[in-house]
Amino acid sequence: MADTDGVNKKHVSQKHPLLAKSLIDSSEPEPTSRVLVIYTGGTIGMKTNDSGVYEPKEDFLVNKLRTLPMFHDNAYADENLGEDEGDFLIMPHGLMYGEMEDLNSHQRGRRVMYRILEYKPLLDSSNMMMTDWGKIASDIHEHYDCYDGFVVLHGTDTMAYTASALSFMCENLGKPIILTGSQIPIFEVRSDGRDNFLSSLIFAGLYTIPEVLVCFDNKILRGNRTIKNDAGSFAAFISPNLPPIATLEIHIQVDWSAVFRSTGTEKFRVHTNMCQNVGLLRMFPGITTQTVRAFLQPPMQGVVLQTYGAGNAPDNRPDLLSVLKEASNIGVIILNITQCTKGCVMTSYATGKALEDAGVICGGDMTPEAALTKLSYVLSKETWTLDKKRKFVKRNLRGELTVVAKENITILDFELIESVARALSVSSTEEVKKLRDALYPSLMCAAAQTGDNQALEKLRELGGNLSSHNQDGRTALHVASREGHVSTVQYLLHQGASVHLKDSNGFTPLHDAIMRKHISIIRLLVKTGAILTLKPIALAMELCCAAASEDIETLQAYRTAGANLNECDYDKRTPLHVAVDTGCERSVHFLLDNGASWSLEDIFGNTAIDCAKKRNFTEIIELIEAKQRELSVNENGTQ
Ligand code: ASP
Repeated sequence: MADTDGVNKKHVSQKHPLLAKSLIDSSEPEPTSRVLVIYTGGTIGMKTNDSGVYEPKEDFLVNKLRTLPMFHDNAYADENLGEDEGDFLIMPHGLMYGEMEDLNSHQRGRRVMYRILEYKPLLDSSNMMMTDWGKIASDIHEHYDCYDGFVVLHGTDTMAYTASALSFMCENLGKPIILTGSQIPIFEVRSDGRDNFLSSLIFAGLYTIPEVLVCFDNKILRGNRTIKNDAGSFAAFISPNLPPIATLEIHIQVDWSAVFRSTGTEKFRVHTNMCQNVGLLRMFPGITTQTVRAFLQPPMQGVVLQTYGAGNAPDNRPDLLSVLKEASNIGVIILNITQCTKGCVMTSYATGKALEDAGVICGGDMTPEAALTKLSYVLSKETWTLDKKRKFVKRNLRGELTVVAKENITILDFELIESVARALSVSSTEEVKKLRDALYPSLMCAAAQTGDNQALEKLRELGGNLSSHNQDGRTALHVASREGHVSTVQYLLHQGASVHLKDSNGFTPLHDAIMRKHISIIRLLVKTGAILTLKPIALAMELCCAAASEDIETLQAYRTAGANLNECDYDKRTPLHVAVDTGCERSVHFLLDNGASWSLEDIFGNTAIDCAKKRNFTEIIELIEAKQRELSVNENGTQ
């Protein structure tokens, strides 16, 4: 993650080892967020060729971006980026971040540092295939732990398909994936590409919105809700059935209550083998039975049927209905969506009911792109039965479908906030909203502090966002993790609370759990995808301190969180060197049992066993030698 390694190496190396502990309190100047930019092609990076038409050109984009100050702060990079960070670009600080009231100070103060992974060949998105979606998903998976967010530069023509597909393929997503492109190449005098790309980088780096999104024309739209609506306008995309998740005007406004969060305690993974036997069939007056029958022939497994208005097809065409029914009976999943850009399928007309009776599934307000890719995803789940596939097609999996809320709970909400608003003489809608945004995070943290799941559930029902943060950037999950309330942590994770959110000091809930040595919570968070975000040197110092004070519980906590116990300090001394030198036998025991190496040399050329010999610690020498014997017996035994 960014905090571990994405910063200012020169500052780090100048600090004295004894001062290094201060690194963990994030006093580090200029913290950064890391973004991986996957450049697949599209107009955004194209160049006019000799015949006067646009075409992509290898390495052109990245080399040009390096020359543009809003995309790359060359002076800062020269001064601060390490040797292994040469292929990174880093955005400048300043006005471009605008007014980001929603972010805590730690997030707001970050620079965005990004690396471009350029595909070969670069593609016009009209040439893309389902396998290209799989490649993007796999690349995100491969780099997932090392970046805070992802930007996919993509042609606009099939962007809505890719965004929809990725939303399904990326399971248990905890970080933003933002697709963007442009109508005019980024290096033309007039271009929408600069704003689109800059906004995407800012969102991917600074806003932990765990969704696949499309950024275009100063709006952030949910990817699986978008359609390309205008071939000639900068506002190329619309999201007809869901307002933007965020708007980027002078103020950046995020509708946090609309953010879709995957729930549960499973790690991020990708599902890449999409089913290709799917299709889109658009009804028109007089469509023949032969056409429909031919379309539904094997190997077809799933069809999106685009019907009229609110989901209607002729109910005076028994021939047509029986073809649909036959196909459905032999296992083809048929999903009914409307041909209208906006609105949804309902069964309020006899003509719509007839389709339902023929086994056609109601697709609600899904876009054609979302419906098609959802079918492709669900059908590719080899271990699922047909019944399960049908059930999942109907379900809202990634926010692609509006599910009508059953209860009306806004009255209660109104009462709670109203009474406080009255007491404070606040009256306008905007002020009441602000009041609510200010009150809820504190109430949630208070409930998490005492492990009061019922109170949290009540607040959630009242419209509260369980991932919102208080003034210190701390969420209910930070607090519950620190206090050791396992069932509250479980509850919050099942409600989609993010394990990646950092408080104002840059710490995630995992750090809270480690500090308090809550092993079962650490396990739960790690299972859900949490990773250590301490810089290696800061981690080494923590481990060395724990080793020197025989604090086995802390060593255990870090170990459970996935720490490398051979992490070394400025003098290349590992926790084992320190444990040996301080004569802490229990620490030596623990470290050896957990894979610590006795053969690593510090900068003075000493291994841990050399240290023990120098100090004549016979028990420790015996411990290490016993471990050596044990390992060599095991190795020989397995040979
Ligand atoms: N044909 C281009 C593409 O989709 C159009 C664009 O990028 O806007 O790749």
